[in-house]
Amino acid sequence: MSSLLVDNIGELVTNSEGGAGPLGLRRDAALLVEDGLVAWIGPARDAPAADRRIDAEGAAVLPGFVDSHAHLVFAGDRAAEFAARMAGEPYTGGGIRTTVGATRAASDDELRATVRRLRGEALRQGTTTIEIKSGYGLTVADEARSLRIAAEVSEETTFLGAHVVPAEYADRPDDYVGLVCGPMLAAAAPYARWVDVFCERGAFDVDHARAILACGQAVGLGVRVHANQLGPGPGVRLGVELGAASVDHCTHLTDADVDALASTRIDCMCAEGRHTATVATLLPGAEFSTRSPYPDARRLLDAGVTVALATDCNPGSSYTSSMPFCIALAVREMRMTPAEAVWAATAGGARALRRDDVGRLRPGARADLMILDAPSHLHLAYRPGVPLIRQVLHNGVPQ
Ligand SMILES: [Zn+2]
Repeated sequence: MSSLLVDNIGELVTNSEGGAGPLGLRRDAALLVEDGLVAWIGPARDAPAADRRIDAEGAAVLPGFVDSHAHLVFAGDRAAEFAARMAGEPYTGGGIRTTVGATRAASDDELRATVRRLRGEALRQGTTTIEIKSGYGLTVADEARSLRIAAEVSEETTFLGAHVVPAEYADRPDDYVGLVCGPMLAAAAPYARWVDVFCERGAFDVDHARAILACGQAVGLGVRVHANQLGPGPGVRLGVELGAASVDHCTHLTDADVDALASTRIDCMCAEGRHTATVATLLPGAEFSTRSPYPDARRLLDAGVTVALATDCNPGSSYTSSMPFCIALAVREMRMTPAEAVWAATAGGARALRRDDVGRLRPGARADLMILDAPSHLHLAYRPGVPLIRQVLHNGVPQ
C-alpha cells in the first residue's frame, strides 16, 4: 500500500468537522492519502511520513467538484442556435429534438468519444464526480446505449427517456409514456442509478411525470426532476412528494414551492447538523446561455433549503463543463457568498447525489481533490474565467 502526502496546504477546504466556518477551513494543513482514500488530515507540522509527497506550496486545496447534473451523451452541436438566441430569438427547449436526430445517427464510438472528451474536460477543471443523463436517444435501443456508454465513465447515471416527447410520438404522448415506463425503462435500468423527467410545459405534464418517476422508483432508481426552469409549475412539489434527491433548475418558484422544499429538512449528524432531503440544484450556466433571469438562490438559502450548483452541460442550453464558471455566476448573479457557492459545488452536489464519500475531505472519504493556483477558495469567484486548477487527484491518483 503506497501513501501520498499533500503537504504545505495554505488553506484546506474540508466541508467537515474540525475546521472553521461552513467550509471547515484549516490553515497550514497536510493530508495523507492511502488506498485512494483520505487517511489523515492535520497540521502540516504533524504530517506523517509517506512514500510520495506533493508540495502544495501554500496554495488552497479543495474537495473535487461534484457536478450533479450533466447531459454528456449526444452528437452534434447547436452553436448556430446559440448565435440566433444571442441575436434575440427566445429559448423554447424545442432544439432538443435537433440533438436527438444527430444522436440517433451517431455510432457508439462517436458518442463514446464525446462523453470521454467532456469527462476529461470537466476533470481538468476539478470535477471528480459527474452525473450523466441519457435523454437524446428516446428509443429503447438509443437510451440503453446512451446509459451503457455513460456508465463506462461514471457511476452516477440517470435515465432521462422523458426529456421530450420525440417527434414520432408528438400526437400520442400517452403512448410514449407507456414506452418509457415499459420496455425503455427495462432496457435502461441496468445501467442507471437515477430516473429523471423534464416536467415542464412543452415536455411532460405532472401526471405523466409522476407516472414515469414512480415506475423508475419501483425498479429501484432514485428520483430527480427537471423542474420550474421555463416557468412556474408543479415539478418542484412533485419532486418533494416523491422524495426526490434533487429538483433541478428551480428558476421560477412560488412560496409554496420553497415551503415544500424547506419542509424536507432533517436534523442529522453531518457537519452542518441539518439539511433538506430534497436538494435544490441550481444551474446558472443555463440562464447564462439562454439569457434568462437567474434563480433566487438567496431565497432558498434563507429558507434553509440545501442548494447545489451544477453545470447542466448540454449542447443546447448550457454548453459548459466548468464548475468554477458556475461558482462565479452564482456569486456575481445569484448573491451566493463565495463560501456558499463552493460548498454547493462540492458538498451540495454530493447531497444531491446522496453521497457522503465525495464532496468533503475527512478520513475515509475518497481522495478526490484539487490544488488551486491560488491561496484561497475565494479566487474561484474573484478570478472568473482563469484556469486556476493546478492539479487534480481522483481516487488519490494525480491526473
Ligand atoms: Zn438538464
